[in-house]
Parts: sequence; structure tokens; C-alpha cells
Amino acid sequence: MKISIPSETHPGENRAPITPDSAAKLVKLGAQVEVQAGLGLGAGFSDDAYIKAGATITTDRKALIGSGDIVLRLRKPPVEEISWLKSGAIHASLLDPFNEKELVQKFADCGVSAISMEFIPRTTRAQKMDVLSSQANLGGYEAVILAARYSNKIFPMMTTAAGTILPSKVFIIGVGVAGLQAIATAKRLGAKVTAYDTRPVVEEQVKSLGAQFLKIDIGETGQTKDGYAKALTEEQIQKQRDAMKKTCADSDVVISAAQVFGRKAPILVTAEMLNAMKPGSVVVDLAVDTGGNVEGVKYNEVTDRNGVKIIGIANLPGRVPLHASQVYAANLVALVEEFWDKKEKTFVLKLDDEIIKGCLVTHGGKIVNEKLLPKPN
Ligand code: NAD
Repeated sequence: MKISIPSETHPGENRAPITPDSAAKLVKLGAQVEVQAGLGLGAGFSDDAYIKAGATITTDRKALIGSGDIVLRLRKPPVEEISWLKSGAIHASLLDPFNEKELVQKFADCGVSAISMEFIPRTTRAQKMDVLSSQANLGGYEAVILAARYSNKIFPMMTTAAGTILPSKVFIIGVGVAGLQAIATAKRLGAKVTAYDTRPVVEEQVKSLGAQFLKIDIGETGQTKDGYAKALTEEQIQKQRDAMKKTCADSDVVISAAQVFGRKAPILVTAEMLNAMKPGSVVVDLAVDTGGNVEGVKYNEVTDRNGVKIIGIANLPGRVPLHASQVYAANLVALVEEFWDKKEKTFVLKLDDEIIKGCLVTHGGKIVNEKLLPKPN
């Protein structure tokens, strides 16, 4: 079975879907692995390293994509490249399937079995394949590093002959995978951290990291069976904003990482709250890729609003491409290994398996994922 890995084409994307170490694991399974020349350069991996791992290198992208029984990528493919895939091929990458209806339909029309890595179920068995977690974790780290870089203060407390420097106050909104890592990173740098999330189970996790939990009574919230937050009503969001305003005003750094799976991110940090913040403070919007939590945030830009820096830099995991590639590739290899028949040396698409049922979006010429099919009345 041939596994093809083309280079990423998104401008500024330095991550690679497969690293040399992970390529070696695929080769060990008995797969023929071919990668596009230059695949790992942005992340720090030379073509030679892939060759040493047992992969072959090609400069012919179209032939590479057209010859793969399995094609592995990081981001969704350009739509015109889908018709290059052979009918019956398996394609695994992030796909943004709720928003990319044309792309998903094209996979179906071309007879490709497309796996959406966003749809890997959040179960213990599938944890090692969970790219949202592996990337969000690094995004949370990077958000704090950026905040520290843009802040006019240091994070830790320092007692010196020239007096005492008080620790920075960091407020983290949305404590999923990224938010938890942001808390841990800010604590390691010595900041005083407060955090808030609508899911009640989070309070314990926040406290176990040594941070304070901001309690806000907004009524019934809860979470889905996959651990995601449920969308709030406009009235609940307003209550939340009112309660957070004081904490934002009192903070040197606000990091927002609040998302609702498959929907646009809620606006939680409003212009009024930004007006209440001190000049020199920093706001990092980790949700900018899904519309942003901060009113007026500019996608992939750092803006200044009356002295408050609003950081909308996109793709934060992509700023640490070596480790982001390492963990993304490990997720992909775990998926391939899970369904690999060692005797036949092939990937078996087990249609009745819970993981495949969760993440397969097209198969046999049709859209097959229940999350994308019209809901029965
Ligand atoms: P996410 O990226 O969808 O959202 C980030 C956070 O934003 C979530 O904690 C959510 O509750 C919060 N949020 C949503 N609306 C908000 C609002 N109005 N105000 C404040 N916060 C708001 O979430 P995620 O990081 O992908 O994961 C969510 C949870 O799923 C994690 O905490 C984790 O416990 C769980 N999870 C489980 C597994 C597994 O079991 N295998 C794997 C990964 C994550």
C-alpha cells in the first residue's frame, strides 16, 4: 500500500503532516512511503532525513497525490487537487467539514474515502489520534509566550534591591486543552492566574493547576458527550461579559480560548471591556481562527487600541512547527496503526468501528457522516 504525503500549500504554514521519525514507523508497517521534496523544511526536517527513514522523495506533486492509496495531509486540500486522487483512495487531514460543503461533496464525487481529523471522537481509545488536542496544547503555550513578549511587564514576582516587582495578572477565558496549557505556562513563568469556563467540571482542573477560578452564575450550561461546551443564550453571554469586565480591567494579560465545536466563536471580550483595560495590557485571541472572542480583533494582526495590544495572530501551533509536526504526525501514525492489517500490510477501513464512524465523512461516492447529513424532522 502506498502512502503519499504532499507538502502543505497554505501561505505561512511551516508544519508538516509527517516527520522522518513517523515516516519510519509507516515504513516499518510495510507501507511504501513517498513524500514531496521539501515537505519538512519549514519544520526543520531535511529531505535526507526522510530518505534515511526509508521514504522516497518526488517533485511531481500531481503524480504523488494520484498514486497514493492513502494520502496524508495537515490542512484541507485545495479543491482542485481532489480530482487528482484516485477513486477508492483514503485521504486524512483537517477538513473544516461544517464550513467546507463544496470540498466534502467533491471528495464524495471523486469516490474518495475522506477522513476529517477534527471528527476523531474524544474517547480514551482515540486520544492518541486527537489532533485538535495535540495542536491546541501547543497553541495555549504559544499564546502565553506571545503575551509575555508584547507585555510591558514581566510575569514573575521579583524581590530586588531596587524594590519588589509584583507578578503579572493573567486572566484566561475558556479552559479547554489550550486554556489549561496557557494556565500551566503562565504559572511556570510566575504569573498570578485567574480562569473561567462555562463547563462546571473545569473549576477543579483550574484549581489543581494552582490558579483561581472565577465563579459566574449564568444558569444551566453543561457539556456535550464529547466534552465540548454547549452554546449559551445571548442573555447568558451578556451576564458572563458583565461579570468578566472587572477581572479584565484588573488583568495585565487576557487570553481567550473559548470555542463551541462547529460554530463561530462567541464574542466575550467586548469593546466596553477593552476600554476598561489599562494601557500596556495585552489580549491574545486564540479563537481568531474561528472568528475570534475579542471584539474588533484583526485576523493575523496585532493591533493597538488605546494602548491595549490585541493579538490576533493565527495558527499559533504553526509558530512552533517542529513540535507541532511531531505530535500531529504521531496522531496520524496512530490512526494508520490502529487500522493496519499487519499480515496483509494494508489499511482496513472498518466502517462499523466507532472511530471510523466518527471521522469518515465520505465513502463510496456519498457523504456518510451523520454530523453532516440533514437532521431528520
Ligand atoms: P474547545 O476548543 O471546543 O473550547 C475551548 C473551551 O472554551 C472549552 O473548555 C469550552 O468549555 C470553553 N467555552 C465555550 N464557550 C465559552 C464561554 N462562553 N465562556 C467561557 N468558556 C467557554 O474545547 P477543547 O479544548 O477542544 O476540549 C474541551 C474539553 O474536551 C477539554 O477540556 C477536555 O476535557 C475534553 N477532551 C477530552 C478528550 C478525550 O476524552 N479523549 C480529548 C480532548 C479533550
